[in-house]
Amino acid sequence: MTISLEARTLPPILTTPLHVGAPNIGPWHEFSERSQEIFRRRWLTNRGPLVIELEQKLQAYLEVEHVVLCANGTIALELAAQAAGLSGEVIVPSFTFIASAHALHWQGIKPVFCDINPHTYNIDPDAIEALITPATRAILGVHLYGRPCEIERLNQIADRHGLSLLFDAAHAFGCRFQGKPIGGNGLCEVFSFHATKVFNTFEGGAVATNDAALAEKVRLLQNFGFQGEDNVIALGINGKMPEINAAMGLVNLEHLDSFITVNRGHYGVYAQQLKPLQGIRLIDYPDANANNYHYIIIDIDEVEFGASRDQLRDYLRQHNVLARRYFTPGCHRMAPYHDLGPWHLPQTEAVCERLLALPNGTQLSAAMVQCICDLIRQCPRQQLGAKQLFEVGR
Ligand SMILES: *Cc1c(COP(=O)(O)O)cnc(C)c1O
Repeated sequence: MTISLEARTLPPILTTPLHVGAPNIGPWHEFSERSQEIFRRRWLTNRGPLVIELEQKLQAYLEVEHVVLCANGTIALELAAQAAGLSGEVIVPSFTFIASAHALHWQGIKPVFCDINPHTYNIDPDAIEALITPATRAILGVHLYGRPCEIERLNQIADRHGLSLLFDAAHAFGCRFQGKPIGGNGLCEVFSFHATKVFNTFEGGAVATNDAALAEKVRLLQNFGFQGEDNVIALGINGKMPEINAAMGLVNLEHLDSFITVNRGHYGVYAQQLKPLQGIRLIDYPDANANNYHYIIIDIDEVEFGASRDQLRDYLRQHNVLARRYFTPGCHRMAPYHDLGPWHLPQTEAVCERLLALPNGTQLSAAMVQCICDLIRQCPRQQLGAKQLFEVGR
């Protein structure tokens, strides 16, 4: 047997690559039983019993009137935008996953990128009104890393200007705002149940809303616009969730609390281990708004830490920790949005250089988290950053 030199120098528990967003999955036997049900029934898709069961369970969990399961989060966003009758321009942060913008633009809507509050990384309510034009129809807030947007202020701005308010809640499943689950705010909130999210259905998504008419429209549009068997009354698409995905969701929902408990435990280890490190700040999840602790995000002050975010990322990658630069470089600097500018997003561009996402979830043991923190500590850096030199000089 040959072991590469590089592999031998690794700490033993990090001999396989650790990804950000490795899936949390429930027990195989539970999924297998659900799958056998599907085979026996031969009902594979088109709002089968498992989709209906999962929708009902999610309505209870999210405390909303309607949940419409969809094929993925991106099509759920598109269906929501279309069902809400959006056109023209929609104000959205640039500091988000590209799908927030793509879903709008794929609907012929121009995403108008708004800067973020550098403390919350969420859309900055103070920056919104300057972007409103006669073509603006809506605001799409994103609860980045599951931390709620400033929902009340967004509501006020939307009301004042007659705009719709929607939320991309792809990160926020299992999170709360002022004691209530994320899911019932604005006109609707849209979830992703992609494999990398805290709760997954392999691929999947949902529109959650208390607006019956909107839910009905989403259902119509996700099934080609069919009303009854033979009659089509709208330009629909195929955005349905298959039964096998709902089976995965039903299994994973049973275990969601344990996934979040594991995440939270790992978060605690990260917090404790990284605290003494100057120039590294782990973003916090205040207890007032329960979080799913799915995202371990560090904000790196290059001068204080003595290495840049990208240097740390490269070092971690060499040691099998595949940390990710979520969400660099910002939607506005990528195709096709770059050419729709000019954009003025100084906070977004500054934050883009500093944040790094680290692995979390049931793939990890506490010892592995410890090991990742050891690597961060061992990352080659300048002995003294400029600020420390300054302090020593004093
Ligand atoms: C994952 C994600 C999406 C897209 O969801 P898919 O299910 O992958 O289509 C949209 N917005 C944000 C913020 C996401 O993180």
